[in-house]
This record gives sequence, C-alpha cells and structure tokens, in this order.
Amino acid sequence: NLREMDIASHLHAQTNLKAHETTGPLIVAGGEGCYFYDDSGKRYLDMHAGLWSLSLGLGNERLAEAAARQFKTLAYAQTFGHRSSEPVIELCDALVNLAPVPMSKTMLQSSGSEANDTAVKIAWYYWNSRNEPGRRKIIARKRAYHGTTAVAASLTDLPHMHAGFGLPLPGFLHVSCPDTYRGPNEGESEAEFATRLAEELDATIRREGPETIAAFIAEPVMGAGGIYTPPDTYFPKIREVLDRYGILLIADEVICGFGRTGSWWGSQSYGVQPDMITSAKALSSSYLPISALMINQKIYETIADKSDSVGVFGHGYTYGGHPVCAAVALETIRIYQEDALIDRAAGLDAVMRRHLEPLKDHPLVGDVRGRGLMWGVEVVADKQTKKAFEPAQKVGARVSNACFQKGLNTRAVGGHVLAFTPALIVTEEEISTAAGLLTDALDQVE
Ligand code: PLP
Repeated sequence: NLREMDIASHLHAQTNLKAHETTGPLIVAGGEGCYFYDDSGKRYLDMHAGLWSLSLGLGNERLAEAAARQFKTLAYAQTFGHRSSEPVIELCDALVNLAPVPMSKTMLQSSGSEANDTAVKIAWYYWNSRNEPGRRKIIARKRAYHGTTAVAASLTDLPHMHAGFGLPLPGFLHVSCPDTYRGPNEGESEAEFATRLAEELDATIRREGPETIAAFIAEPVMGAGGIYTPPDTYFPKIREVLDRYGILLIADEVICGFGRTGSWWGSQSYGVQPDMITSAKALSSSYLPISALMINQKIYETIADKSDSVGVFGHGYTYGGHPVCAAVALETIRIYQEDALIDRAAGLDAVMRRHLEPLKDHPLVGDVRGRGLMWGVEVVADKQTKKAFEPAQKVGARVSNACFQKGLNTRAVGGHVLAFTPALIVTEEEISTAAGLLTDALDQVE
C-alpha cells in the first residue's frame, strides 16, 4: 500500500516528520490545467501553481513533446570545461536577451537554492579577484526565503529553516523587509517608510564596516515570508545605498521571474537594478528542475581574470546545463511569448483585485495585497490593531486546510497569509471560484 510505503520510506520536505507518521501522504495522481487530483479521484483547484512555479499548469503537450524530442536527440551532455549543447546555448542567449537590465552571462543549475548559492560564491570570488577578500558578509532581509542549501538557508530568515540546524552561518545578516502592512509608523507614508528602510541598511553597513560586505540579496516581491510588495521608491533607494559602498545587488527572481507580477521580471515591476539575477520555478513551468544565474559584464570580467590566474573557475554541477531541462525551459519561454502570457498576468491583476479585495470586509482578514498573479490574504486576530494570531493557534494552516477540504489548494505563507498565486493560464472563472471557496473556508474557521 502506497500510503504505508510512503510513511515507511519517504523522508518528507518541510513537514513535521513525527506528525507525518500518522497523517501520511496526500498522493497526487494527475491533473490538467489549474487542477490536480489525488489517488481517490478528488479534484483540487491549484491556486498556488505547485510552489508558485507551475505557470503553464499540468498536461502541457508542447512541454512533454519538447522533452521527448530532446531525450531522443541528446539526453545528457555535461558543461564542464568547454562542453556545451544546443539547447543550453540557446537558453543562455535567450535569458541574456530577456534580462531586465544588461546582463553578460548565464549559468544553469537545477534549483533556486543552487542559483542563490552560486550567486553568493560568485560575490566572494568577485571580491577576492578585486583584492578585497575581507568582503564576505551577505545582507538579506528579515522573513526572506532564498532556499535550503546551507548558504541559501542562511540567506533565509524564517525560524523553522534555522531551528535545529544551527543556522544561519556566520556572516549572514538580515535587515527589515518592506512590510507595508505593519511596517510603517503612525502617519508615515510608504515613501517615508522606504527611506527609513534604506537608512537602516545604510546604518547596518556602516556598523559592520563596508569593507566587510560583499552583497545584498532581495526578492522583488517577498514570497514565502508573507507576500510583501515593496513601495515603488524602495529598490531605487536601496540601490543608492549599495552604490555608496560598491556592494553588489542580487535579485532573487525565483518566484517573480517569468510573469508572476505582470512583467517578465519582478525587477521591472519594482525598479530593481541588479548585478546578478537568479531564477528557477517558472523558467521551466517546473516541468523539469532548472535554474539560471545571470551576471553582469563588470562581474564577468573580474571573475574571468581570476579564473585565468587560478587556472579554472572551480564551480559547477553535473546537472548544470542539462540539455533536456534547457530544451523544456526554451519551449516554456516560447509559449509565454507566443501566447502573450506575461500580458495576460498583467491583465489578470484587476481580476484578482476585484475578487480578493472584498475579502477585506471579512472579520478574519486584515490585509489583501499583491500584483499581477501574486496575491496574499492575511488573516489577523484583530483587524483594528493588526494583531497577528499566535503561531500556536495555526489559524493560517486551519484556513488552508479548510480550503483543501473544499477542493482549493492554497498555502499559508509566513504562517498567516493565504497565497493566491495561480498559473498564468488561470481563467477569471477559476479565480472567482477560488475566492468563493476561500470565503467559505474563512467563515468555517471564524
Ligand atoms: N528563492 C525564492 C524566492 C524561493 O521562493 C525559493 C523556493 O521557494 C527558492 C529561492 C529556492 O528554490 P528551490 O526550492 O528550487 O531550491
């Protein structure tokens, strides 16, 4: 029996392991478009698009065919040394051309965590090349999620990602994030709030010593920490501060990349001017594991010189530049372009707003925020004071469980924010159905 086998042999990700021994797995058996079904045949409307990643939904024939074609032509080729393959070359070229700011080179890996890990290593390599080896520290933001390798989990600032692991590693710092719901002081405008956050970053850099800081990393819209869209002036002000000290800016576009906020990149929606960009997830609509790191010319030239003196750029993975993953990513990008899906995501912003904003009247809902197809509905203990529920009350999880019972898949991110981040192919009818099911679930939990 599959359920017993899962409990006996499968070490699950991101779950209470002990609880899983009695809960057992939800076995997903298939799906089509924005729906998946479990092994009993029950259907769920997936408003989280897998993990903010399944942007073309399930059952896309073109992606299946692109993979099959590439498997038959060339199932694998490594990229160490001077090796390459056609889909890898075409994908690196396509990404450099799509980049929101001029980028020079792309390196492929298999996951968002690896891309962020690589970005940090390249920042270190860059500063060593420039004879500033003291620049080791990386500044991320409170509540950030950047992945689960030892480095990516150190960039992350979510308590359960550190507890028990002895993380973060030394040298990873976290400054306040642009939480426009609870962050601004009484009477403070969003622009003033953004200025204050930039000042906090500046003060942190001066306290630590600019000569010790390598890079700053941020998601254009913070995802797993609670879906926080920044004030428009936030990233330009952050860039000003970083420029003052020559610090590199890494944009983690793992969620935002490829249309999620209604532009190709979250950096375009929010005026981010990064030196490096990481992306994954929707890059292949998560049909196969692939991520991309892009670096600009300034970084490339510096690390190229260093690799020349060392003799080799000592970084890369067996599956970095897997031809089948690259072929599927290329086909995904073609579909986004041919079906104008990025514009579609921008257009659906108004639809999401129309269906979700009325939830603000619900006694449990404190805030509804988002952009494009990246929205969050925050449940609170007290609407007036914005007081959060105690984590132990698990209200977010109770709402998402109630949704699940009703056939709606969402997830409480940051503990209490219900994620509405569907595939780019979602219809208005599906958004409306989902909003109705969420309302019913909130009524039930209330
Ligand atoms: N960065 C962000 C913003 C993410 O949301 C995630 C995953 O959710 C990651 C990085 C890590 O990606 P992966 O799970 O592919 O390692």
